[in-house]
Amino acid sequence: TEPLLAVDNLHVEFTTRQGLVRAVNGVSYTVNAGESLAVLGESGSGKSVTAQAIMGILDMPPARIPKGEVRFRGTDLLKLSDQARSQIRGQRIAMIFQDALSALNPVFTVGWQISEMFRVHRGMGKRDAMKKAVELMDRVRIPAAKQRVNDYPHQFSGGMRQRIMIAMSIALDPEVLIADEPTTALDVTVQAQIMELLAELQRESNMGLILITHDLGVVADVADKIAVMYAGRIVENAPVHDLYKNPGHPYSKGLLDSIPRVDQKGQDLYAIKGLPPNLLDMPPGCAFHPRCPYRRDNCVTDVPPLYEISGTRGSACHYYREVLDGTVE
Ligand code: SF4
Ligand code: MG
Repeated sequence: TEPLLAVDNLHVEFTTRQGLVRAVNGVSYTVNAGESLAVLGESGSGKSVTAQAIMGILDMPPARIPKGEVRFRGTDLLKLSDQARSQIRGQRIAMIFQDALSALNPVFTVGWQISEMFRVHRGMGKRDAMKKAVELMDRVRIPAAKQRVNDYPHQFSGGMRQRIMIAMSIALDPEVLIADEPTTALDVTVQAQIMELLAELQRESNMGLILITHDLGVVADVADKIAVMYAGRIVENAPVHDLYKNPGHPYSKGLLDSIPRVDQKGQDLYAIKGLPPNLLDMPPGCAFHPRCPYRRDNCVTDVPPLYEISGTRGSACHYYREVLDGTVE
């Protein structure tokens, strides 16, 4: 059976003045209805570019997709006409962006902006569309929605503005919702509330949810499964609890060890040494080798494939068994 959304061996490259950047290098993942996938990675790992390819919002050129498919209910979106694509974008597959303040128009009320979704896409009249806007503001738990529907974006806090963005993104009942770093600009408590809201909405409407983040700490309670990206590839995929219990790639292990934990108060936090690689000058072999405490000789020459650990787990590390068993130090 075909998943709701399947990214299959996706490659995205950019032509730059300095040379060719392979931003996404053979990425595959799937999301089903009612399932939530966290895509984790540092900036430049290719996680946002993959999402932009799904949405069809990459600038081409300079971007190019030399290989791969993005199948939505079995149809490869990359082969659709622009017009067919725009019927899906924002309606059946919607996206929430990081920066709610710049995404909202400062000169229109939030009610007007939310209700625009219904006026433009559902042909509703102003009054009905405005009523729907209030309903949606309730649904994303904006207090006193009826009173606040005619307020302007700047009259809301950052967290409330993000809720307004979420309201707009779910207005047309999308089947897939992609949230790209939806909480990065917010403080920790508000981050948790927004994540909780996304999880609730996802359960209520049985959407497929893709949560893109650089912060492993915020997705633990929300995601079912996780794909860890590094330098344009997936280095580990796993059910979220399996990865938390026992990561199967040194990079995931490093990320996990750098999350503050209540049970380890006072201990020094581990941080992964070094920087992500320059995509114009990728290290040979395993791209993580310059930073890897587990590195051996062949890591510098042999690119690790995504080894299958089980039916639901994979790791792109030659020594994943030792990493899982904790036998390599
Ligand atoms: Fe580290 Fe080698 Fe595994 Fe890469 S393949 S993550 S360098 S041990
Ligand atoms: Mg990004």
